[in-house]
Amino acid sequence: MPTAPFDNDTSHHSYDFDTYKANAKKHTCSTSINGIIRVSETSVGKGVFARRHIHEGLLLSEIHGKVLEDYPEDSSYCMALPSGKLLEPTAPLRFLNHSCDPNCELFYWEDEETNLQEDRLWLQTIRPIVPGEQLLIDYCWPADAAIPCRCGAPTCRGWIVDPDEFHLLPISENGDNGASLQSY
Ligand SMILES: [Zn+2]
Repeated sequence: MPTAPFDNDTSHHSYDFDTYKANAKKHTCSTSINGIIRVSETSVGKGVFARRHIHEGLLLSEIHGKVLEDYPEDSSYCMALPSGKLLEPTAPLRFLNHSCDPNCELFYWEDEETNLQEDRLWLQTIRPIVPGEQLLIDYCWPADAAIPCRCGAPTCRGWIVDPDEFHLLPISENGDNGASLQSY
């Protein structure tokens, strides 16, 4: 995997502290994350799977990990923090795989008045998840870090890339969005 230069933080949603945080408390998992998910092998390496039914809009966990100032050699697990620093997540959530049609999303808290962002990432479900289903997020990588995507979703963009940067991808001459492009 190429090193991903996470310059722009377009991949995560922000939520206002006051209006959302109090509300989210009610929807926060009371069980430890390991009681809800397990890590199993997939065709693309390890993945995170639901042990039980998880309802929509549940705040599952903070993404814990090591904050890095510089890009590591293999940054394929890294997530961009609101400050632009990188978070190298620890297991199990480091194994969250990508889908162009995800059932989870990363977010951070932001104070709407001061625009102060908490430099932490959290994971929440955006759809109901059934037992055994894989938890997936949209990596939304910048165009210069994009790699071909084989997530299999009907809405797959063909690339692991931020939808806002899709137009920056080199398009092959036959106009098929470059499935034959770029050896990497
Ligand atoms: Zn895809």
